[in-house]
Amino acid sequence: MTPPVNNRSGRAGFQSRHFLQHHPVQGAVQGELRRHLRKPIRVMKFGGTSVGDASAIGKVVEIIRAAARDSHVVVVVSAMSGVTNRLVAAATQSEAGDGEAVAAIFGELRRQHDAAADALIHSTAERSGFGGKVQKLLQEGDRLCQGTMLLGELTPRARDAISSLGERLSAPLVAAALAERGVASEAIEATELVVTDSCHGAADPLMDLTGDRCHHRLRPLLEQGIVPVITGFIGATPDGLLTTLGRGGSDYSATILGAALRADEIIIWTDVDGLQTADPRLVPGGCTIPEISYREAAELAYFGAKVLHPKTLRGVMQCGIPLWIRNTFAPERPGTKITPTGPPSVAGVKALTAISDVALITVGGPGLAGVQDVLGRTFRTTAAVRADVLLISQASSQNDLCLVISSALGKCVVEALRHEFAHDLAHEPAEHIALDPTVAMVTVVGQNMRSVPGIVGRTFGALGRENVDIIAIAQGSSECTISFVVPKKDVNAALAGIHKEFQLGSPLHLTTAAAIGARENCYHPCEPAEASRRPNQEQ
Ligand code: ADP
Ligand code: ASP
Ligand code: MG
Repeated sequence: MTPPVNNRSGRAGFQSRHFLQHHPVQGAVQGELRRHLRKPIRVMKFGGTSVGDASAIGKVVEIIRAAARDSHVVVVVSAMSGVTNRLVAAATQSEAGDGEAVAAIFGELRRQHDAAADALIHSTAERSGFGGKVQKLLQEGDRLCQGTMLLGELTPRARDAISSLGERLSAPLVAAALAERGVASEAIEATELVVTDSCHGAADPLMDLTGDRCHHRLRPLLEQGIVPVITGFIGATPDGLLTTLGRGGSDYSATILGAALRADEIIIWTDVDGLQTADPRLVPGGCTIPEISYREAAELAYFGAKVLHPKTLRGVMQCGIPLWIRNTFAPERPGTKITPTGPPSVAGVKALTAISDVALITVGGPGLAGVQDVLGRTFRTTAAVRADVLLISQASSQNDLCLVISSALGKCVVEALRHEFAHDLAHEPAEHIALDPTVAMVTVVGQNMRSVPGIVGRTFGALGRENVDIIAIAQGSSECTISFVVPKKDVNAALAGIHKEFQLGSPLHLTTAAAIGARENCYHPCEPAEASRRPNQEQ
């Protein structure tokens, strides 16, 4: 291992005050961790594209090297781009008994990691150490797939174990690339740190246990100036069974670890300049939002903005740590800062998002009019099959209820509802529970929309001009979101029409104050750490 970068300035007192103010009720153990560290802690998560090949990893290494000069950096990595998809395909193919397809996928994964390692690691010892790791992990994957083929069944536990391999490969690769550039680092599997419940495929952290583990495992490394490079996406139950947090879950790993460590900042490094006013793949001409509140960012993530995993903000809600989204390929740009309250004085529509892989379920018709507790029974049924209901709209009587859920769960929810109401509807000739997979859901997000009159009218006017039918509508009680269901084929037109109506492509729609505030508060890799603090965070 290369020698640690040792650059401690004497800011211990400042740090403890900062944390007392912002993280009032976290355990004493984490407070202890903070007392021993004299530089700010930055958790930096790098997504799949950011570690997608040797050239991208080279950029990641430079960002970490610069940040490690004035902070304790904790790195969280995703799998190289495309790798988790291929691992999931290998898992599915093994259930189908296609051993050749599985072998081909593992061959490709080996070539991809070897090619990146050949370009990045020149030290013979490091290169052969990483080669051995690849060999071991791919053999483990092969054994898991062989077991699945033998059983003819892919268990949730096996699916998690197979799909975890991407991060378990990328973390040692990034750690070795850092060592090559003189940054002392250690790859760590998050199974050692992130303790979760046993909900395979969508696990949630047990924060007390996670905090203790992070303290004991990471403190000695940070004290020695070693950069831990931690696998995103995965955790383990208290008994040590590997779990995953859900697809795209490395963002959530970053906030879980950030909260456990009482970090000063969490930075999600990705392939766009920050949180945009709409998905740049769907609406060209959007602009980067300089600063936004936790609540708005959480709504955007929940309603489809892929740049953040839907649960990302949960990790920091309690502790107020600023979260940045920045571009690995343009680190000089400020990115988006996500703070507990967002910038002052900005009300109105901030951004749009859409989800296309949803289905609309309608529960209604004359046969249900007299049935007791339709609402309660419907939601007990969706909860029993663990379906998240994204939108609900109900007409004046109980006989017309619309639910939007993920399309993957559509059939299963409809079957469960038909079963639930089978007795009530036994004599009804018409179908009362229907599934429509041809819809999408668009959500308009903005804090305090209540204080700006006419937003709903302008939104629907824009949809009218684009000839987009509105199938169902729901407005959050906090007026932070307005969601509506439109035909899937019209989703781009709907987004473009609303984006234009609210002039979201013009930075002027975000006040100058917000833009200036974000620029002032922005952390640049080479700036001193104090630059990233807002004045009111200091006591
Ligand atoms: P990573 O691999 O770094 O986790 P993701 O592909 O998961 O990156 O997320 C980044 C992508 O999210 C962007 O390339 C962009 O296409 C998409 N995206 C969707 N909505 C937004 C939005 N509002 N702002 C920025 N990016 C968005
Ligand atoms: N590699 C995982 C996925 O592709 C997690 C992540 O990238 O955030 O879903
Ligand atoms: Mg992602």
